Amino acid sequence: MATVAETARKVQSGEISSESLVQASLAKIEATKGLNAYISVLGEEALDRARILDKRAAAGEKLGPLAGIPVAVKDNIVMSQGRTTCGSKILGEFRSPYDATAVERMIAAGAVPVGKTNLDEFAMGSTSETSAFGAPRNPLDENVIAGGSSGGSAVAVASGSVAVALGSDTGGSIRQPASCCGLVGVKPTYGRVSRYGLVAYASSLDQIGTFGGSVADAALLLNSICGWDRHDSTSAQVVVPDFTASLNKGIKGKIIGLPKEFFGVGLSQEVRSVVMKALETLEKAGAVMREVSIPSFQYAVASYYVIATAEASANLSRYDGVRYTIRSKNAKDLFSLYANTRSEGFGEEVKKRILLGTYVLSSGFYDAYYMQAQKVRRLITEDFNKAFSACDVVVSPTMPTLPPKLGEIFTDPMAQYLGDIYTVAVNLAGLPASSQPVGRVGKLSVGLQFIGKAFQEEELLQVAAATEKLCAN
Ligand code: GLN
Repeated sequence: MATVAETARKVQSGEISSESLVQASLAKIEATKGLNAYISVLGEEALDRARILDKRAAAGEKLGPLAGIPVAVKDNIVMSQGRTTCGSKILGEFRSPYDATAVERMIAAGAVPVGKTNLDEFAMGSTSETSAFGAPRNPLDENVIAGGSSGGSAVAVASGSVAVALGSDTGGSIRQPASCCGLVGVKPTYGRVSRYGLVAYASSLDQIGTFGGSVADAALLLNSICGWDRHDSTSAQVVVPDFTASLNKGIKGKIIGLPKEFFGVGLSQEVRSVVMKALETLEKAGAVMREVSIPSFQYAVASYYVIATAEASANLSRYDGVRYTIRSKNAKDLFSLYANTRSEGFGEEVKKRILLGTYVLSSGFYDAYYMQAQKVRRLITEDFNKAFSACDVVVSPTMPTLPPKLGEIFTDPMAQYLGDIYTVAVNLAGLPASSQPVGRVGKLSVGLQFIGKAFQEEELLQVAAATEKLCAN
């Protein structure tokens, strides 16, 4: 299959039109409607944009590395076109007056947004089943979860309506759906991509990242959205290298750290055997495997769910029926306007998290929970730093089990949170990480996660690209 870079070059040269690409994308969206990947589709708007790009290309104008490429955008990333619902009833009719910086930048690079994708409500979840618009379906097996929270973006790429998509990742929301749907997903270093226009879930953990069918495609889209932004004070003022430059450099001599804690209890036999086989293949190709240790790993899920819900409880207080949201029709006074709007507008998972987050921040419990979680976060960062003094990248499964059947996880919420075990520590430490398919069990795909040093996406993606060549399935 052609890479996104090749297709963009053809649009630039006039060999194919962006309009035909967008038409094909819209037709595929329609044909795969049953997968519920999209919450809204930008039909005419996308075609108009494509026609303008075709004209500019014909006039000899340089369009950029994503020239004319249809892209899907997770519906918690705002755009001035269409609605931004965050998968929630409460924002069901919300229209943003502006484009998120990531969207603005990919459009400047030539991309054409074709639709907004389904997600867990406010990105809270790992299965996309908490969406107020129903769960997306996994094209590999429609009875299992697509992963979450960026499930719609993953399904959009896996079902072929777009080659690449934007997602967001607070504790695994790009890597897990990538793993479930057999794709590449990349979460960059915290601060690499502006969060301006990403609807906040947990601000110290959230990052926008990308999905693709290959490392090269995901890397190309990522390149177009990175860099400092005056609208986001946490965006980093560091040089953005060309992430695609080292993709062919191979894996020989790269030191891969295997944290011993990552391969213990909780890891299913099926996932373990696929992952171990992939690691053997990498070793045969010249990678050096080294055991490392992240002792604080066992506290990562607990610490994550304290910090993420604490931040969520503050971030979601703005949905009060006054400014952005639907407004309860049953309000008698200001208090009942707030209370009824929130009770009617938010789903169960979101309410649960607001309650938990408010609790851990309350005066009697702040030190015991929130402060403690912050200390654990610091330990996790230090453990990773220590591990990285002995290796170039760290490796782990992306998920401890194969994707469960739709509906299954709700019978056991603890199992859902524990499913985040390999991904949340990465966000707590602010590191870049990727997930890619390395083998199958029946119809289902198993994802391998690489974790890189802060701002070393180039090296991370080099290792991922080499793995892709060696472990293609
Ligand atoms: N599953 C995690 C959570 O529910 C991560 C979600 C995400 O990365 N947005 O918080």
